[in-house]
Amino acid sequence: MAKYRQIAIYGKGGIGKSTTTQNLTAGLAERGKKVMVVGCDPKADSTRLLLGGLAQKTVLDTVRAQGEDDIELETIVKTGYKGTLCVESGGPEPGVGCAGRGIITSISTLENLGAYEEEDLDFVFYDVLGDVVCGGFAMPIREGKAKEIYIVASGEMMALYAANNIAKGIARYAQSGEVRLGGIICNSRNVDNEKALLTAFAKELNTKLIYFIPRNNIVQHAEIRKQTVIEFKPDAPQAEEYRQLADAIINNTDFTIPTPMTQERLEEILFEFGLMDIPEYVI
Ligand code: ADP
Ligand code: MG
Repeated sequence: MAKYRQIAIYGKGGIGKSTTTQNLTAGLAERGKKVMVVGCDPKADSTRLLLGGLAQKTVLDTVRAQGEDDIELETIVKTGYKGTLCVESGGPEPGVGCAGRGIITSISTLENLGAYEEEDLDFVFYDVLGDVVCGGFAMPIREGKAKEIYIVASGEMMALYAANNIAKGIARYAQSGEVRLGGIICNSRNVDNEKALLTAFAKELNTKLIYFIPRNNIVQHAEIRKQTVIEFKPDAPQAEEYRQLADAIINNTDFTIPTPMTQERLEEILFEFGLMDIPEYVI
């Protein structure tokens, strides 16, 4: 039984999973927590802000180049901001093969090399691409590596659609395994009534809105410098938002089996909150 918390972050592509995971991790590291981040996206950009640049080689690249047998842990696990451990699974060339492959190889390689046995590990985060539509992306859950899931979403319809689909995947595995939903993280896109909408959406899914992260250009300013906001401007209000998200996750004790909704119900909720403000062009 692992002593550390095993967390996966899911959500639609481009919603802010990697940005949020790394800023949250930086917040945890500031609190003295030992964290490993395992990037599960063929883009291999899940640890860029913690490492101050892209990791040299992904696990899949390394296995391809030298086989699985004589890989050293230091080749695939790099140390980033305040001692965070950073791994990128990698993936096949675009258009070739299954993207889940990198995740499977990564998990088994880390396991064989004893990466999960690190004494003082408090958290392992998997930053996972897209919907749980392809079985490959459900690997951290299927392998029992991710027990606690957070879904990053915004008030935009496609983000909520993806979040609901991910909840369907979690519900399926929760029946037979230990995986549970820990909450919805809203990464704001400044949609009307976004916080109320996400609160209602989370409630319908039998979970809660664990944190609402405002949209702020300082995220880009830090990103072009290959840094988290916490490292770039520790005193900025946005850095404080990520610290509060880190605390919300540290203190979270609500883990549920999600109750996904029908497309009709999702549209009903969107309609209800969308109608709260009547746009000028309607008047
Ligand atoms: P994902 O990992 O889900 O594909 P990313 O974390 O790469 O998404 O985020 C996509 C883009 O959105 C990034 O370039 C990042 O700068 C921007 N972004 C993420 N969160 C915020 C935020 N809270 N405010 C402003 N920009 C953000
Ligand atoms: Mg990403």
